[in-house]
Amino acid sequence: MERHAIYPGSFDPITNGHVDVIERAAQMFDRVTVVIAINSRKTPLFDQSERLEMATAALAHLPTVEVAIHSGLVVDYANDHNASVIIRGLRAVSDFEYEFQIALMNRKIQPTVSTIFLMPHERYTYLNSSIIRELARYDQDLSDFVPGPVAAALRSKFQ
Ligand code: ADP
Repeated sequence: MERHAIYPGSFDPITNGHVDVIERAAQMFDRVTVVIAINSRKTPLFDQSERLEMATAALAHLPTVEVAIHSGLVVDYANDHNASVIIRGLRAVSDFEYEFQIALMNRKIQPTVSTIFLMPHERYTYLNSSIIRELARYDQDLSDFVPGPVAAALRSKFQ
């Protein structure tokens, strides 16, 4: 059976830290779907179709990775698409508590779907999308932090 994993998140926008996690996941699974989900705790800078476009461009080098938009529960997406694994990234201990709660809640709702945590290269452990949005607002060089198409989209957003 095909091993299909999903990597859900806001990806507002996708960063090199996300791409690092996705590259690791792509080596472990036959197919990986990056799922751009709605996070009710966040007000996004980019709408879902802009996030889809940036992520698709940033992941074009990975033939077994696709990008999708979903507005319901992540476990429902996994179930409907025969994915048995949810990937999440862990940067620091501070991520752990929130991620642990979500993972256990997802397992309670859908026991057949497991969460796997992957750690990015150390150089990305301090990266998050809100810092990137802040740097972009002040016209900082983003080339070490985000893929080229994302840097371009951020520049035009704050022009
Ligand atoms: P959410 O809005 O659900 O927190 P994000 O888009 O912020 O989603 O991130 C999706 C997943 O990627 C989360 O598991 C998050 O911890 C992880 N992540 C975010 N930034 C990085 C990074 N720099 N390195 C590794 N994982 C990351």
